[in-house]
Amino acid sequence: MKKILFVNKNLFFVISIITLLGSFWLYFNFKDVLGKHKDEIQRIEINRAHKTSEKILLNIQPHIIDKVLSLKDNLKITTKISKLLTYYRNDEFKYVYIIYIDENGAYRYLADGSELDERAYLAQKFTPSKTLLWQRVLKEKKEVYDLQDNAEGLWLTYLTPILKDGKVEGILALDVSTQEFNNFSKLITPLNKALNIFFLLIFAIFVVILLQGILFYNELKKSMIDSLTKLYNRHYLEQVSSKIKLDKMAIIMLDVDHFKSVNDRYGHAIGDLVLIATARKLIAATRLEDKVIRYGGEEFLILIKSAKVKQDVIKVAQRIKNAIGKEKIRVNDELSINITVSIGLNLCENSTKFFYDEVKHADEMLYKAKRNGRNRIEIYKN
Ligand code: GH3
Ligand code: MG
Ligand code: MG
Repeated sequence: MKKILFVNKNLFFVISIITLLGSFWLYFNFKDVLGKHKDEIQRIEINRAHKTSEKILLNIQPHIIDKVLSLKDNLKITTKISKLLTYYRNDEFKYVYIIYIDENGAYRYLADGSELDERAYLAQKFTPSKTLLWQRVLKEKKEVYDLQDNAEGLWLTYLTPILKDGKVEGILALDVSTQEFNNFSKLITPLNKALNIFFLLIFAIFVVILLQGILFYNELKKSMIDSLTKLYNRHYLEQVSSKIKLDKMAIIMLDVDHFKSVNDRYGHAIGDLVLIATARKLIAATRLEDKVIRYGGEEFLILIKSAKVKQDVIKVAQRIKNAIGKEKIRVNDELSINITVSIGLNLCENSTKFFYDEVKHADEMLYKAKRNGRNRIEIYKN
């Protein structure tokens, strides 16, 4: 059952990755197109605001003969300027007004081109909502603007300083909200939202799939490890058996001799410790590319990766047998136990058989070793 999933894991990850990358691509392409279009509209609007500001300042120039500040006491002229500003007010340039800065640094209306019932009176205090933008125009002494997306659509605030002897005396302010802006905004806002939601969804799905995958493979990995000895178990062997190349492998079946008597004499817990120590010795006696598997209780299957000369594996088997039989296993400070192992070796020479057939031959040799007195190696000859 798990094997099917195991085989398909690559496909599963490839599909997930492609889906994620595809979504990334779609998302950023869309964003890019929308962003470019938005930039273009903004560029046009900013340009228009700039031109209009220039025109207004040129028109009111004759009225600002001296200083802006001196005008604030001249209602007649400021009314005239206000009237002039109304010519520029339209559906797009919704608010056109000039502000001066009084001796306390407060902003006050000098002229206002708004509709009559909305129009601010001369010297009426003005509190900007975009304080930082207004501070910038004073500091930088050049035009500044700000774009804001609010419930009514996209708004452009365009501020032009009115300079006198290098000092900002007044500020011409335009609040622009164009049809094109709003149409675009109406289109882009839900589109952007949908795009963000789509992307988040895909991302969330991917994360869930990834976590599930990681969890699944952790579980699978855990299920292939023997909990006592931390060696691979039989489940691992089932997973890899079909991929084992027998022409490059030799199989060792190894069983601890008279292990029952270890248990009987010292108890099961000590028996466990002996098994753990045996497993460690087997790992130490083999190379990284060899695989040590706990096949049964005190029975181990070792896959030895062999070179061209398979006979060399016989030396490996001897090394393994010696590694265990020569030195006592130190269980604790007081107790050391001597164990031996019997080994059945199948070199799998000229093998065309299935893996488990070759295992069977190794197993037969193991029993032959047992029959022939234990603590020895028997080699299968076909
Ligand atoms: P032989 O030389 O013929 O292999 O003799 P043996 O006593 O080793 O063989 P037998 O199959 O009769 O006994 C194997 C024993 O291994 C029996 C079982 O209790 C013990 N055993 C199997 N798994 C474990 C384990 O995880 N821990 C412990 N402590 N003992 C185990
Ligand atoms: Mg045994
Ligand atoms: Mg046994």
